[in-house]
Amino acid sequence: MSESNLIKYVQTTCPYCGVGCTLNLVVKDGKCVGVEAYKRSPVNDGKLCPKGVTCWEHVRSPDRLTAPLIKKNGKFEEASWDEALDLVAAKLNDIRARGLIDEVGLPRVAATFGHGGTPASYMGSFPAYLSAWGMIDYSFGSGQGVKCVHSEHLYGEYWHRAFTVSADTPNANSIVSFGANVEITGGPCAAARHASARVRGAQRVQIEPHLSITAGASAEWVPIKPKTDPAFMFAMIHILVHENPRERLDLVFLRDTTSSPYLVGPHGYFMRDPDSLKPLIWDSSRNAAVPHDTPGIEPMLEGRVVVAHAIEIGVDEERWRHTDCSAETSFFMLVSHMHKYSPEWAAAICDVPASTIRRIANEFLDQACVGQTVEVDGEFGVGVNYVMVCQHFELHAIKCVRGIGNQLAQKDFAVVVCTNAGGPVAEKTTDTAAASLIREYLSQD
Ligand code: SF4
Repeated sequence: MSESNLIKYVQTTCPYCGVGCTLNLVVKDGKCVGVEAYKRSPVNDGKLCPKGVTCWEHVRSPDRLTAPLIKKNGKFEEASWDEALDLVAAKLNDIRARGLIDEVGLPRVAATFGHGGTPASYMGSFPAYLSAWGMIDYSFGSGQGVKCVHSEHLYGEYWHRAFTVSADTPNANSIVSFGANVEITGGPCAAARHASARVRGAQRVQIEPHLSITAGASAEWVPIKPKTDPAFMFAMIHILVHENPRERLDLVFLRDTTSSPYLVGPHGYFMRDPDSLKPLIWDSSRNAAVPHDTPGIEPMLEGRVVVAHAIEIGVDEERWRHTDCSAETSFFMLVSHMHKYSPEWAAAICDVPASTIRRIANEFLDQACVGQTVEVDGEFGVGVNYVMVCQHFELHAIKCVRGIGNQLAQKDFAVVVCTNAGGPVAEKTTDTAAASLIREYLSQD
């Protein structure tokens, strides 16, 4: 066989979305002539979505942009690289001559890479150039990652210390999804994972205004008034903490592996040991507040106490010193805060009957498997067989309630967040306990 008839397969990664399917480019005569899924990839399991299947066509498409375009007389016209670079240089020189800051004190130059988290290593010397330039407005653009415009990664880093925030569909029995259209946006692996889970008996409830593909492929679709899903979620929290016995919650997990027992002071920040500045929790065996990592303690999960000595530190390093000061545990504050968000309250906002919200919350809780463990890839973790996927940052408050973590070893819960938190309750959702948790999370190494 002549060299020219040889077909080569070049393994690479689909460039389109954050799924990152593995594929083989089919190369003949030194030219890319097709694409095939890489069958041994655990990411896409030998499958590609329509975008991935056709991605090779762009290489030699007559519509592919191969030169800069400059808008002239309202139309984009092809230009040489010298012309384009001269134009950019002239504009930058003009700005530098006028000053980097405009009349209202804002940078005149803005830079976006489409995605806030695109690593510097992918941008060559551009970051160095911008650094040398001076003040730049980076405030627009969103999301994280090289290929994906998804701020879940940003919040995922905050909450889970994981860039990837993926629902643990293969191990879940119950999935409550708020508008995450994973059957479409999750690529072939998400669809395959869900299909396998359904065969195993898992149930997904899709809560969103329209009958999406994901809703159509779910066990149940719950139509909801747009942008009111935080009300639904708050009612779920209410049901968990106010309509069920405490023992049904994973109290051990909450107590021992979350900051739920941390004491919160009158300014809404953690009460800290005045010397070590570590957050304080109430040790029931000593009847005293102690740093959270003190060995051999019995942390109080719920209640209000008087702390002899503590310090609160605000976001701008404000400091409040306290003597004999009242403090509440984070979990106690969360429970108090959620008292008014009943299913009846939510029903009036989101147009979903209170009985439906109550049923879904209780079914969710029924699948909690509190105390069980699960083996994932040879490692054991806490087995809580439910998953909640949402588009709202506020849902993380539920995590405080159920003591839910989705670190890989635990494999019990996953939340997908976008930036579109809105609706009538969004502005009310910054409950102090959750805010304190965020701050504590961010202050960790
Ligand atoms: S899901 Fe589709 S677009 Fe995304 S990486 Fe896989 S093949 Fe590419």
